[in-house]
Amino acid sequence: MSDIINILPDSVANQIAAGEVVDRPASAVKELLENAIDAGASQIQLIVKDAGRTLIQVIDNGCGMSDSDARLCFERHATSKIKQSDDLFNILTMGFRGEALASIAAIAQVELKTRQPDKELGTHVINEGCQIKGQTPEACPVGTSIAIKNLFFNVPARRNFLKKDSIELSHIEEVFRRVTLANCQCDFSFYSNGKMLYDLRAGNLLQRICQLYGSNYNERFFPVKEDNELVAVNGYIGKPEYAKKSRGEQYLFVNNRFIKHPALSTAIEKAYTDLIPDRYVPSYFLNLSIDPSRIDINIHPTKTEVKFIDEHALFALLRAAAKKALGQYTLSTAIEFNPSEEFDFSPPPEGYIPQQPRISYNPDYNPFNPPPSTKPFSGGYNASSHHDTPKGSTPHDEPPSRRWENFFDQEDTPNQYELPQQQPSSTISTDNHYLQVGLRWIVSTMNAGLLIVDQQRASERIIYEQLMNSPSVPINAQHLLFPINCTFSPADADLFAEMLPDLRQCGFEIDALGHNTFVVSAIPTGINDQQLQLIFDQMLADRKSAMLQKFTDRDQSLCRSLSRQMALRAGQPLNEEEMNKIVADLFCCQVPNLSPFGQKTLVVLNSDQLNKLL
Ligand code: ADP
Ligand code: MG
Repeated sequence: MSDIINILPDSVANQIAAGEVVDRPASAVKELLENAIDAGASQIQLIVKDAGRTLIQVIDNGCGMSDSDARLCFERHATSKIKQSDDLFNILTMGFRGEALASIAAIAQVELKTRQPDKELGTHVINEGCQIKGQTPEACPVGTSIAIKNLFFNVPARRNFLKKDSIELSHIEEVFRRVTLANCQCDFSFYSNGKMLYDLRAGNLLQRICQLYGSNYNERFFPVKEDNELVAVNGYIGKPEYAKKSRGEQYLFVNNRFIKHPALSTAIEKAYTDLIPDRYVPSYFLNLSIDPSRIDINIHPTKTEVKFIDEHALFALLRAAAKKALGQYTLSTAIEFNPSEEFDFSPPPEGYIPQQPRISYNPDYNPFNPPPSTKPFSGGYNASSHHDTPKGSTPHDEPPSRRWENFFDQEDTPNQYELPQQQPSSTISTDNHYLQVGLRWIVSTMNAGLLIVDQQRASERIIYEQLMNSPSVPINAQHLLFPINCTFSPADADLFAEMLPDLRQCGFEIDALGHNTFVVSAIPTGINDQQLQLIFDQMLADRKSAMLQKFTDRDQSLCRSLSRQMALRAGQPLNEEEMNKIVADLFCCQVPNLSPFGQKTLVVLNSDQLNKLL
């Protein structure tokens, strides 16, 4: 039989390799930005059109390339960054494999213009599908400009795989944030479809954070600074009160390269134990400077994972550094969120439906005679506003607690937990039958058993349903005495503008003022006007993650996000009336037993279950 093995031509090999390096426009952006950083640039411009589909261009003022390097850089394994194997153990550049440009050139039309500082003329190279189509001398500024046109022009499968522009653009933005946060010494600008999204000036890390996220971020962090033989840790960790429910603002860098390292992230989060409520995560922007020989370099250039030789020590050091930074804060607030340890019920069995406990009640008894006074909570969520919200088939004027009774009352079920007539209040309790445990759970005894409600989740559910009903039921809005201006990064401002109709439907009155600023003149009752910027920032973060997770139902995700913002939180002390109101409103909801995020809002432990426990 004749020989059958062929060596693949470079063009095919490169195209295959390209799949690993460039899977979407954002990865090409990453490679080009990193090359510009490696070239020592102090000014870098990123220009994209159609989310990188038609054009990705990076212009830098770095060292440039010679005429022959400008051709050679497109060859595989063409790199100026390592010469011998020893160099591998001392790498501080972003790239070193010489794969990126070869891969990009295999799947796009590339135009390179570059000039070295000591040359009068630069050079202009056109490369298409890995073939040099032409090279001419050209007068151009010092540095390099690489334009990638029609990415995946010869790989239709890959092209068809791309998501819609807004998603691809948000991936590019994420790459841009990672690179710009790691290189504060450098000016960056970013244009998308001719519009400037970011214009970042060289400065320190905190200034860079503020340029990217808005000047209000200036107040949100504690600095971290630790230096020992193993590692130097520098950067900022978020103040606990600015913790969020999404991980969007967690940036860890090693030697100025963005990495993902779940264990080290946990180390930082552990420093916040007891300082932030469950499910909230802190923001952080930290760089670890480590001797490159202590890091396993054998990781793929596009991957963000990294291995450390001294992982355990790093974990301990990082947690200690974060704790120290949180220092004073920890002392003053540790007690507040510490849930009671004696209160540890095992969850009810899977598939448990809260309707099961059955109670009867005295239909003539009206605990709302006289009705209890309602008082808004001091923070977040305004309980009194919910009186006005009709729910489904429930009559408008029926006291909410009465509807809670109905929730448990099943006409066709036996009165298993008969309520003694002389104690009617134990069903609906406007008396002292609510207890707040761990500043988080509302507990009530009733003849049906023990009801435990998670105050935050319950509040999220109540507000969520109220918002979802808002097209037919106008949300109570309040006009602000002094309108509040909120400013966003240019990219966020675009996204925020898209959200305006939905926000208006939820009771906000907002107008665009230009320059990425919006003026808010009315807000739904229950929104804390002091925290508007924070609330909107969180909503934008939610919106972006919803976009990345392909949520289609915008309304739903907005209402979820808003409910989370407006809900009262764990840690908020409640009085009897407030607890009564929450429980009553919760049972008016269509889905009282789950939060809008799918978590249980309540458990009812009936006598049988209590029997098993004790
Ligand atoms: P790597 O970065 O791994 O070396 P690349 O394919 O990204 O590989 O780039 C190949 C080479 O081209 C680099 O090593 C560098 O010498 C040169 N190069 C790429 N981009 C630039 C740039 N913006 N300025 C100067 N030289 C560059
Ligand atoms: Mg590179």
